[in-house]
Order: sequence, then structure tokens, then C-alpha cells
Amino acid sequence: LTLESVLQAAVGPAHVLLDADLRASYETDWTGRFSGVSRAVVRPAGTEQVAQVLAACAEADVPVVVQGGNTGLVGGGIPDPDQSDRPPVLLLTTRLTELGEVSPVSRQVTAGAGVRLAALAAHARAAGLDFGVDLAARDSATVGGMLATNAGGIRVLRYGSMREQIAGVEAVLIDGQIISRLEAPVKDSTGYDIGHLLAGSEGTLAVVTRLRLRLVAAEHTRAVALVAVRDTADAAGLLAALRGELPGLCAAEISFRPGLELVARYLGVPEPLADAGGQARVLVEHAAETGPLDELLTALGKCDQVLDATVADSPADRARLWQLRESHAEAISAAGQPVKLDVSVPPDRLAELVARLPDAVGTVRPDAGLVIFGHLAEANLHVNVMGAADSFEEVSGAVLGLVASLGGSISSEHGVGRAKARWLELSRSPAEIGVMRSIKAAFDPRGLLNPGVLLNGHDRNR
Ligand SMILES: Cc1cc2nc3c(=O)[nH]c(=O)nc-3n(C[C@H](O)[C@H](O)[C@H](O)COP(=O)(O)OP(=O)(O)OC[C@H]3O[C@@H](n4cnc5c(N)ncnc54)[C@H](O)[C@@H]3O)c2cc1C
Repeated sequence: LTLESVLQAAVGPAHVLLDADLRASYETDWTGRFSGVSRAVVRPAGTEQVAQVLAACAEADVPVVVQGGNTGLVGGGIPDPDQSDRPPVLLLTTRLTELGEVSPVSRQVTAGAGVRLAALAAHARAAGLDFGVDLAARDSATVGGMLATNAGGIRVLRYGSMREQIAGVEAVLIDGQIISRLEAPVKDSTGYDIGHLLAGSEGTLAVVTRLRLRLVAAEHTRAVALVAVRDTADAAGLLAALRGELPGLCAAEISFRPGLELVARYLGVPEPLADAGGQARVLVEHAAETGPLDELLTALGKCDQVLDATVADSPADRARLWQLRESHAEAISAAGQPVKLDVSVPPDRLAELVARLPDAVGTVRPDAGLVIFGHLAEANLHVNVMGAADSFEEVSGAVLGLVASLGGSISSEHGVGRAKARWLELSRSPAEIGVMRSIKAAFDPRGLLNPGVLLNGHDRNR
């Protein structure tokens, strides 16, 4: 029996894509930067089928790459182009879409790993609750992919990252064994927490099949402001002041004039606050039982950093302001393939990072442009270097070296993937990387799951 025929028997022939044309869209990532060839694209429909697929691949000694919504930005869900002599099976989780009933008592819900973020949020809202993590790729990103990358997004300030939303996880090991700990007691001190270990594991340890997710109280009334400030230091000062004034502050996003100009051109709308002066813009969202707009205006009125602001409380106007922030990634991609980096530094050093980035990039590519934006409260910047895609290694090395010298992280929320595996040691000590390697070996002794992602690439490039 060939591996292909075993896979067809497991998931049905219609869900084993062998034809190159049918596989193609899954073999390239959202940015277009990463692509590789798979042996087959396989779409299992439930945990048992995932177990059969993995056991068959392990038996045949064929690597497996896991993919959810394919919105990851670091190449973690795409076959390794350097391993084309040993193409992997590409396992898609998009048919794992079971969504259980919301428990009003525990405020939890069980979701298949392939459930899209927007579908989960709509399901939670229909039950009078909400999901704590939100991000611009909500219509495509899956909850499994979000756990695997420990996704953050626009509400980390209030609810934390994906890891904090996990009450239980079901996952399948490479040999087909199922680990299921979905409805564990709320308090549980019986040793290692495997669900949390899978947060940020990027498909290298196991395939997540179902998640038990915590939900949060729905916030019905919100107000949003886009605020012009002089620079990054003033943006940080504004956030500190607003945190003191507004207990319902749920988002604080930073962008800069060049990015907003690009987005406004892309959307065909005027640049907001174009005449306000200053280089930085902060988008804040505040939720309150009643009158969030008045509270937000009062708080902004007390802040010296505000040069000008535009506010919104109707859903349509809020969406318009959010669109200016959330369209950055799309507008950047439409302008050309950037070198895309996702970094964070200790909050006190954010202004220094922003000030030093142009020089760091300029030393390797003086002709490159820079578009930066990100999540202010976590000092998490998405750094996009434009017009330098042919100098990916040099530009990445320069930016990540600067970030490391400021005590920062080379991946704040997108993961390490294939893009940054060779720089892992800038953020993790040799002892930590040693422990991570041991954990990988315990889960996946033959290195069949997502080879080249996170640790393996790091090993290979040493
Ligand atoms: C426009 C845009 C905006 C974005 N904004 C944000 C943001 O604000 N914050 C943020 O954190 N990210 C953001 N992202 C990145 C991306 O949406 C997240 O990384 C998301 O978590 C990826 O989910 P996915 O289902 O698309 O995963 P994929 O891209 O399919 O996979 C990502 C990684 O997870 C692994 N994986 C996927 N599913 C599983 C599973 N079931 N079991 C084990 N491993 C698995 C893959 O192997 C891969 O390594 C953005 C992306 C885009 C395109």
C-alpha cells in the first residue's frame, strides 16, 4: 500500500489533494514570500482521522506540515523549500470546525482547531459573551493556528494573548496517540500543563485538534479615538495617563504618518489628522456600561500629549477608524513584498527602538523605506522594510540585532517559523534552547512535525 492510498482510506479520496494545481494555493503563504512543495494536501474531518493521518505518515517516515488558515506571517505552515527531495504531507485543519455549546456557568466553549476566529467570536456573542483575542486576520485565522503561534492582537492589553484563553486542549502526537484534556477542573496542579506548552509550539510538537476556550463578558458600548501625538515617547506617555483614567481601556495601537499615508492612499480616503502635526498616531478604544465617549473625551482632555484627535462611538465610525489601523498589512503588501518583522522591547525602550531603526536599516539598505505600526501597550512593533526583499537576511539581522541589544524579543506574536529560526538565540539562552530541544525530542523523536520551523532551522543553521 502507498502512503497516498492509506491517506485516502483514512479521510476519503476527495480530501487528499495530489494534483499540483489543487495543492498550489496551500503551498504559498499570505505574504507570498514562503513557498514549498508538498507530497499531498490532506484534510481530515475529526480527531480520529488526524490520528490516522499522523500514524500513517510516521509509519512511512514522511514529514508533516500543519496548516490552519494560512495567515501566519513567518512561513511556519508552508513546506520547507530546502527539503524538496523529501516533500511533506500538508495537513489542513480547516475541516475541524465543530463548535460546542457555550457554557454560561464556566464561561467556556469547545472549538475545533479549524474554527475561524470570526466564527468563534460570533458564536460567543450570540450567547451574550465574547472571545478575548481579536486580530485583523479574523475571517481566516483558525483558533488552532492562533494557539500554535500564541497569537496576540489588538486586545492583549485587556485580556492577554492566546495562551491566557486556554482552559484545555486536545492534540494528536506524531505516532497517532491522542492527548485529551479539554474539560479539566478549573484548578489543577497535577504537573506539566501540556496545553500551555503547545502555545507557541508552531506545529512542531503535536497537532492541536480541539480547544477549550475561556470567554469574556461582552462589552456593548465602546468609543474609539485616533489621537495625534508628537512622537513615540508622547504616545507612551499618553497610554500611561489613559490607563490611570480609564479602567475600560481595551486597545492602544500605534501608527506613524508614513504608514497612515500609505493606508489612506490604498483605501482611497483622506489621511486623518493630516494637519495635526506630530509623527505618531495612537488609536485607543474604551468600553464602559454607559457613556464611554464622554469618559474618553474627558480623559483625553487631561492629557498634554494630545495635539488633535478624532473620536467615534457609532459602529460605522468606529469601524472606519479601526480600518485605518487594520489595513496596514494589506496596504503594505499591495505596495510590494516587504521584509516583515514582528518585535517587542521592554516598554521603556520603545522610543529608542523607533529612533534607532532607520539607522539600523540604513546601514545595510540605505535606499529602503520603513513602515512601522503595532500594539503600544506591549511595545510590539510590526517593522516593514520596503524595497529590500532581496536583502532579507541582512535587513533582518540588522533589525533583530538592534532589538536584542535593547533586551527585546525577535518575535512578539507571529512566531519564529522559518523566517527567524536562525536568530532564535538572540532571544533565548543556550540553556533554554537546550530544554526546548529536549521537549521537541520527547514529543517528536524523529523530527517529523514541521521540520525547519522554530528549533530545527536553528539547529540546521548553527
Ligand atoms: C492581516 C493580518 C493581520 C494579522 N494580525 C495579527 C495580530 O494582530 N496578532 C497576531 O498575533 N497575529 C496576527 N497575524 C498573524 C496570523 O493571523 C496569526 O499568526 C494566526 O495565529 C495564524 O493562524 P492560522 O490559522 O492562519 O495559522 P497558519 O498560518 O495556518 O499556521 C501558523 C502556525 O501554526 C501551526 N498550526 C496551525 N494550526 C495548527 C494546529 N491545529 N496544531 C498545531 N499547529 C498548528 C502551523 O504549522 C504554523 O506553524 C496577522 C496576519 C494577517 C494576514
